Amino acid sequence: MANFKQHISGGIIFGILCTLTSFFVMGFTVVNSLTVFILGVLGSILPDVDCDSSTPNHLLFEVMGLLIPVLFLNRFLSNLSVENILFFLIVGYIVTKYALKFIFNKFTVHRGVVHSIPAAIIVGGIVFLGFGETSFSLKVIYAMACAGGFIVHLVMDEIWSVDLGNNRLKNSFGTALTLWSGSIISTVAAYVVIVAMGLLIYSSTTIPKSLDISEGQTSAVPRLEGKTLQKMGWADRFLVDINSTWTSLLNRYVKN
Ligand SMILES: [Zn+2]
Repeated sequence: MANFKQHISGGIIFGILCTLTSFFVMGFTVVNSLTVFILGVLGSILPDVDCDSSTPNHLLFEVMGLLIPVLFLNRFLSNLSVENILFFLIVGYIVTKYALKFIFNKFTVHRGVVHSIPAAIIVGGIVFLGFGETSFSLKVIYAMACAGGFIVHLVMDEIWSVDLGNNRLKNSFGTALTLWSGSIISTVAAYVVIVAMGLLIYSSTTIPKSLDISEGQTSAVPRLEGKTLQKMGWADRFLVDINSTWTSLLNRYVKN
C-alpha cells in the first residue's frame, strides 16, 4: 500500500500531464487547465478517505464542514441576520465534522467499495454534476481528470502490494483495482448510484454537436469575435484569461 506522500506525488505527476495536455493540445485557458490539475490531484488522494485516521479523511471532513453550510446558506436561505448565519455555520461545521464523519467511518472499511473502479466512476459523475453550468466538454475533461487521478491511486495501491524484495503478493493485492468489493450490499449500492447518476446526467444534459470548449455560457473561455481559443497562441490565451477573470470579478462585486 502506498502512503499519502507517494499518492500525492503520483497525483501531482498525473495532474501535470493532464494540465499540459489540456493547455497545449486542447486549448484550455490557464484557469481551466489549473482546475484540471487540482481535480487530478484531488482524485489521487480521495480513495483513502475510507481509512479513518488518514490525512484525506481528516481533510475531507474539514473542508466539507466549511463548505456544506456555506453552499446550503447560499442556496436555500437568504435575509438572515449575522447572528443567525454564524449560528448556522457553526452548527453545520460541527454536524459535518463529527456526526457525518462518524456515520461515514462507521459504514466504510478501508479497501472496501471506496477502493474500486465503480467508486472512481461515481467521483467522475459528482464532478460532472457539480460543475453545473460549465460547458459540456470542460465538464467531461474535469470528470475524467478526477476519476483518472482516482484510478492512478488504485493502480499505485496494487503496485505497492507486490512485495518486490520477496517476490510475493501481499494480502492487499487485488483489493483496489476491482469492479466490486467484498460486501455484496455496498457493491450493489455503488452500481445503483452509477445508474441513477447516469440517468440524471442523461436527462439534464444536452450533448453538443461539436465539442468546442468555448460553447459554454459560464466557462472561463471567452468568445473573441468568432476567433476560437484553439487558434490563439498560449500567451494570448493567458492574457485573455486574466482579463476575463478580472472583468467577471469586477462585474460581480463592484458594479452591483
Ligand atoms: Zn489507498
